[in-house]
Amino acid sequence: MIRILDKFVFLHIMKIKHLLYLTVLAALITGFAGKNKSGNISGNVPQEDSLMIRNIYSEALMSFESYENLRYLCKNIGGRLTGSPEAEKGVNWVFEILKGMNLDNVYLQEFPVRNWVRGDKEYAFAESKKYGKKEFNVCALGTSIGTGENGVSGKVIEVKSFDELKKLGRENVEGKIVFFNQAADQRGYSTGYGYGSSVYQRVRGAVEGARYGAIGVVVRSATVCLDDNPHTGVMHYNDSIPKIPAIGISTMGADELSRMLSDDKDLTYYFRTTSKQNDDVLSHNVIGEIKGTEKPEEVILIGGHLDSWDLGEGAHDDGTGIIQSIEVLRLLQKLGIKPKHTIRIVAFMDEEIDQKGGRYYAEKMKNEKHIAAIETDGGGFVPHGFSFSGTPEQIAKLKSFKEYFTPYWLHYFENGGGGVDISFLKNSGAALIGLVVDSQRYFDYHHSAGDRFETVNRREMQLGAAAIAGLVYLIDKYGL
Ligand SMILES: [Zn+2]
Repeated sequence: MIRILDKFVFLHIMKIKHLLYLTVLAALITGFAGKNKSGNISGNVPQEDSLMIRNIYSEALMSFESYENLRYLCKNIGGRLTGSPEAEKGVNWVFEILKGMNLDNVYLQEFPVRNWVRGDKEYAFAESKKYGKKEFNVCALGTSIGTGENGVSGKVIEVKSFDELKKLGRENVEGKIVFFNQAADQRGYSTGYGYGSSVYQRVRGAVEGARYGAIGVVVRSATVCLDDNPHTGVMHYNDSIPKIPAIGISTMGADELSRMLSDDKDLTYYFRTTSKQNDDVLSHNVIGEIKGTEKPEEVILIGGHLDSWDLGEGAHDDGTGIIQSIEVLRLLQKLGIKPKHTIRIVAFMDEEIDQKGGRYYAEKMKNEKHIAAIETDGGGFVPHGFSFSGTPEQIAKLKSFKEYFTPYWLHYFENGGGGVDISFLKNSGAALIGLVVDSQRYFDYHHSAGDRFETVNRREMQLGAAAIAGLVYLIDKYGL
């Protein structure tokens, strides 16, 4: 039973909720109509543009084509590890899709990439007097050497920082397996903050372990979620330090191993991986463009990366970015927009390992004038806005476009953005722009078997495509 005072408060809250509901409803209706009483979205932007953006959103939200394309990419091609046959299938598939779109130009850029293969399903267990034998879900980290057929086995030393490892020194580490178990920091609003706080263990753990004589490293997955999927991702060796095998362990597995170690420091851990590096192979960026009617030599680039990790289907990372980029071209065509500038989409290869695609593109196109480059590589989640880097003038202009997007609940128009693939255009004079999306679930899937088509919501992905198309429309019309 609710006490009287509580009941009063409860009713009052319900009233406020009701008012809020009505406000939200009004905002939604405004958003749908694309205008308010004054005829504009917010009174300050031309109606013609606000209606065009409204139409872009309507077309994107009504269409199921992109989502079906994503389904094909994920289910019929699957994970697209750089250098793999699947990655090349992806290249051919995107090429064919673009060819079928009646664009002005569709072509490939060819360059060599690494060809790392995972090999057999990884296997790991701990053996302890108290707990007996316990198996763990693990995966080889990207580009790690394998253990060889017999695997590696040894005592485990758990650390939560490189400093801790350094303090332990060679006398405590030599001949053992180092278990890096710093959990991702949960405090940031963006989950990228948590990832960024712990991913160093994955990238540099093998080098730091080997520096003190370790025989292998086990790395807690760099993610804010707690589940039993190990997350992979690139790691690096240093040529002056012996190469030792590195595996990722799920966050639940890491907690379990830590618990076991606290009871039995002498437990032994075994893992076996057969990953290896083959000779480089040729791979490709895929490019499609609509030539500008007035300034064809000036390019607005939209892109994402076609390669992915192999454990999942490369859905959020970055299948959705590829599909959204293609969708931007389709939306412009469908709405009869004849851009003044050349609108070019690039499906970059090899973002996950060496960024050969981004590097090659920037080098090859260095004499072209890019006015803006937009990257979508944060997953196909609800967009919140854009982040920018560029000159103060470019940023001021981009921020002035914010008003057009308030009916669609985009509010984040801040400095700082870009993306890995377009970062190589840093000195090109182009404004670098990243689509900012809700990040709460991204690292649940990122680089793991969980990154599957089923986790992508069609409307959320399409809202991202519409946001980019709207921004492209404005940049093209008003310049930067
Ligand atoms: Zn990515």
